[in-house]
Amino acid sequence: MSKINVYLRFRPVFHKPDEEPEDSCIRSADNSTIEMINLRNTQETVSYKFQQVFGENSSQEEVFGTALQPLLSHFTDDVQNVSVFAYGPTGSGKTFTILGSDETPGFIPRTLRHLFARTRKNCSSSNITATFSMSYIEIYQENVHDLLDDRKKLFSLRQDNCGNILIPGITEIKVENFNDFEKYFVPASHQRRMAKTSLNERSSRSHTILIVKERKAPFLRKTAKLSIVDLAGSEDNRQTGNRGLRLKESSAINTSLHVLGKVVVALNKNNQHRVPYRDSKLTRLLQDSLGGSSHTCMVVNLSPEMSSIFDTQRALNFATKSMTIINRPFTRVEVAEFTPSNEKDETETVNRKHKST
Ligand code: ADP
Ligand code: MG
Repeated sequence: MSKINVYLRFRPVFHKPDEEPEDSCIRSADNSTIEMINLRNTQETVSYKFQQVFGENSSQEEVFGTALQPLLSHFTDDVQNVSVFAYGPTGSGKTFTILGSDETPGFIPRTLRHLFARTRKNCSSSNITATFSMSYIEIYQENVHDLLDDRKKLFSLRQDNCGNILIPGITEIKVENFNDFEKYFVPASHQRRMAKTSLNERSSRSHTILIVKERKAPFLRKTAKLSIVDLAGSEDNRQTGNRGLRLKESSAINTSLHVLGKVVVALNKNNQHRVPYRDSKLTRLLQDSLGGSSHTCMVVNLSPEMSSIFDTQRALNFATKSMTIINRPFTRVEVAEFTPSNEKDETETVNRKHKST
């Protein structure tokens, strides 16, 4: 059994060159405690404890090395599912953490470099061959889109008899090295739906998920899935002033994040049979990451400015509840190709069995 590791990260306070910086509503008290100004009495602070708190000066390397890298050996060595996701309000640094930039690469490029380097080392000392494939999807207004092939439209989700969520028909590209990966990933990442909102110059209007699958051969065929999720931000439309399409997008984002919150609450109450995974595409896809078969870590990003205090409070509540979720990772030894006979229709009742490790 494995608990979700919840990390907190807050970015520097932003301000225009000709303006005074806003006060901050949070600070790290020590490396695992964050203090926030009490909403009821601003003279006081409230403390929250997490696995680790990364402050404004934390580097991409440090966050990756602490939060994600230790989990990756479960994927490469134990061939078990691993998931990571960034949660938080718009403009708090989710995409910065997951994707980063050329100068400050985030989780995705660092993870892929790490995977190729590690498997080259492991496989050169044995007869095992490991192959990786990638899929890159986005959930936009409750529809799943293929970022590797924008001609493909409207995917439904299925579940195999091991409880894995499948997206039949989605592009899976075999990647052999980092250059290979970049060749497909970089153009695909430009397909993501972005827009300027009042809170972020390039706000993600969708949730994006990079899925890397590993297959190990020849003795026993083992397969595992690594999911790296960049969630769209929760937005308070009174603050954004969103209208028309932006408002419609924002409502879809808020609805799926609301269901995600309900899933976390149900898992918290140990109510395994009443978890509303099916109430949104996002939670359905994350089903094997939350209370499922995956080693999972979550980075909750926060904007430190005083004007974001209500969003910060909501994100901290979500993060606190997520800490108690328990997953049951296991190694899947079989041929795991998608065939109609090992799929279950979405309308069938979920009857999953997990073997604990
Ligand atoms: P989100 O995806 O949560 O909406 P972004 O990742 O797009 O937010 O971040 C908003 C802005 O803040 C971007 O310009 C990004 O480069 C910057 N930013 C985010 N986190 C950091 C950080 N830790 N250090 C420096 N700049 C950051
Ligand atoms: Mg973003």
